[in-house]
Amino acid sequence: MKSDDTLYDVIIVGCGPAGMTAGIYATRSNKSVLILEANTYGGQIITTLDIENYPVEAHISGFDFATKLYKQTIDLGAIVKFEKVVKIEEDGEEKVVTTNKCEYRGKTIILATGAENRKLGIDKEEKYLGKGVSYCATCDGALFKNRNVAVCGGGNSAIEDALYLSDICNRVFVIHRREEFKAEAVLVRKLKRRDNVDIILNSNVTKLYGDKKIEGIEVTDNEGEVKKLRVSGVFIAVGRVPENQSFATLVDMNDAGYVIADEDCHTSREGIFVAGDNRVKSLRQLVTATSDGAIAATEAVKYINSKKWDGDEEDV
Ligand code: NAP
Repeated sequence: MKSDDTLYDVIIVGCGPAGMTAGIYATRSNKSVLILEANTYGGQIITTLDIENYPVEAHISGFDFATKLYKQTIDLGAIVKFEKVVKIEEDGEEKVVTTNKCEYRGKTIILATGAENRKLGIDKEEKYLGKGVSYCATCDGALFKNRNVAVCGGGNSAIEDALYLSDICNRVFVIHRREEFKAEAVLVRKLKRRDNVDIILNSNVTKLYGDKKIEGIEVTDNEGEVKKLRVSGVFIAVGRVPENQSFATLVDMNDAGYVIADEDCHTSREGIFVAGDNRVKSLRQLVTATSDGAIAATEAVKYINSKKWDGDEEDV
């Protein structure tokens, strides 16, 4: 395994809004910053069509937001490497981060890995991935132009996906397991005004069928009645699960796998902080992710400055 000789002040795991904002705050405090990202920069926001609730910009696409933030972060001097973190260990005061390519050492760590799409957990969901099953309407919606599709879920993501798809597709069936949507009322109102959208409540998608790709689904209502819908695509938007598997023994987590942290983003382990959707919190939004990034970096800087490190110059 290769190893990097630098002792970074802050190693940030995850290059989403929380991780990048942490990078901005730490570099502006004159700290060396390495950001490690398994996929692409931007996190989940990059696939959001239109952000309407971030202060100042009334409308900005997730892609533009993430790209501007990425540029700002690297222009300030943060180093970004696209490598997957597989392990984090402690070696005295230092933290050792192992990726699929290299080993890095840091004085502090900020865990900003966010969350990934929750699976429905039904038969053949994985088999039909890319063959009708999708977790990203803005990425794959165009493939279903003028076709019938289903969206499964009741939160903001599901309703936004359905709105987006109703502009492209012939019919959109929205299937939600409860009587009421969890999504914001303003989005639900917009959805109900669309005349090519059918809302099916108190129901779950229970079966996917088709030969090489999806040709239809079975929907079962809460009374057990089953109906078939002919659709070419199923967009699953049933929430997200935190991407904390690699840190399971490193920091304390709750039963759902979110990192337990105080208001200042401190985890159960000294020098390790957490920012964004992968921590226990009541509101997971872009604005709270960037806010966490600022707090976690500020706390990391305080922690570094409170300690003596090998190579620090003696005070005179
Ligand atoms: P979410 O708010 O957690 O909603 C997930 C939905 O999926 C819920 O309605 C849930 O049903 C349903 N669900 C969960 N597991 C299911 C299963 N196994 N089978 C069927 N249905 C299932 O997730 P999200 O919509 O992805 O949003 C995540 C966060 O991002 C939220 O805080 C949201 O507000 C935010 N977000 C904001 C915007 C925006 O502000 N424009 C856009 C997108 C997302 P129940 O209702 O029964 O729990």
